[in-house]
Amino acid sequence: MLQRNIVKRLRRLIASPDFVAFYFKEKMKSWRRKLSYKIDKNKSYYPNNVVLLPTNRCNLSCASCNIGLSHSEKKFADTFERKKEISIDEWHSIVDKISFFSPRVSISGGEPFLYPEILELVKYIKHKGLHCSLTTNATISLKKGLEELVDSGLDSLTISIDGIGETHDQIRGIKGSFDKTMSFLNKIIAYRKYQRSFHPFISINCVMSSLNQGRLEEVADFFVNYDIDSLTYSHVWFYNQEMINLHNKLCLNTPYEIKETIGGRFGTHGQKDRNLEELWAKIGLIKEKYGDLNISFFPDLKNFNELEVYYLYPGRAIRDHKKCYAPWNTIEVFPDGDVEFAGSCFHIHTGNLIEQDFDDVWNSDSFLEIRKKIKSIGAFPICARCCYIFQQL
Ligand code: SF4
Ligand code: SF4
Repeated sequence: MLQRNIVKRLRRLIASPDFVAFYFKEKMKSWRRKLSYKIDKNKSYYPNNVVLLPTNRCNLSCASCNIGLSHSEKKFADTFERKKEISIDEWHSIVDKISFFSPRVSISGGEPFLYPEILELVKYIKHKGLHCSLTTNATISLKKGLEELVDSGLDSLTISIDGIGETHDQIRGIKGSFDKTMSFLNKIIAYRKYQRSFHPFISINCVMSSLNQGRLEEVADFFVNYDIDSLTYSHVWFYNQEMINLHNKLCLNTPYEIKETIGGRFGTHGQKDRNLEELWAKIGLIKEKYGDLNISFFPDLKNFNELEVYYLYPGRAIRDHKKCYAPWNTIEVFPDGDVEFAGSCFHIHTGNLIEQDFDDVWNSDSFLEIRKKIKSIGAFPICARCCYIFQQL
């Protein structure tokens, strides 16, 4: 069953004797990055996170996603339009290029299991001694592959589930998605138990949208009895026309200008029409029922006023989250080996990791320009509802 925070943490500590060393190494790197942010002008110490996107393809059709909605004709989805997928040997060479600074590697997509050699990639990342996490919709049948995935030593697996049964299927746009995901999840839990392994850490992520808001507690009620490690409810990331107008006042005729955006993760989706009383009541109910279990909300809005600000005044920052550090701590590598800074909010090409060495990309002229711009303003108006605004160096 979903366990209490403290029990879960102790179990993991015992299972990972190198955890303390890892923790202090991470602290040192974070300190080094903070120093770099202060003194290195626009160059930066190495990033903490490298996000690999081996494919943009997806087998689902989610209402909250530009990939799922195939909005590839719009500017904001250009990032997802790239068709070329590099070979596994090329991914190996990229992993070789980043492994010397020991980043945390996250694999995402599209649906990563649609990349034919995905298990090979995970194994190679683990072989290089790097922390590896993977996010999936868990609907692709892997047969033997699920066992290989656990045996690879994958550190963390995040599965997106936005409701129970039909609610999930409606949001995913494909009937039967929930059953497929549960079959995947049950098998991986069973094999992990059989191997008496604590890996991978299994998280469920549920995005709270207007499409599932009335039934949010069903997700917690359902998963408390499962041997998963955490359940996170995420608020929707978005920006609306008001934010775009403010943004473009600052950025007109620059590479940061936003010409047009639509639905999906970054769209407006009528956030102002949400029934916030109901949403706040649901959040309260879940916290009251399961407050001692590993269930969290991201961002964790502290009171109804913050919830109102979040959805009704999206240009306003939540508390002191007013600076984007993404260009100092994260990069994304696209299916063709191209690199952009995290967030994919602006399509500014910073290099290609097949053709260039990591240092040449990470401190390329375009990356330096991005850092200079973002550091000078802290964050753009559109940043207020981006997940990266909540991350620290
Ligand atoms: S949210 Fe994920 S699963 Fe859904 S369409 Fe987009 S990439 Fe696919
Ligand atoms: S916080 Fe802003 S600049 Fe940073 S990644 Fe998000 S949208 Fe982009």
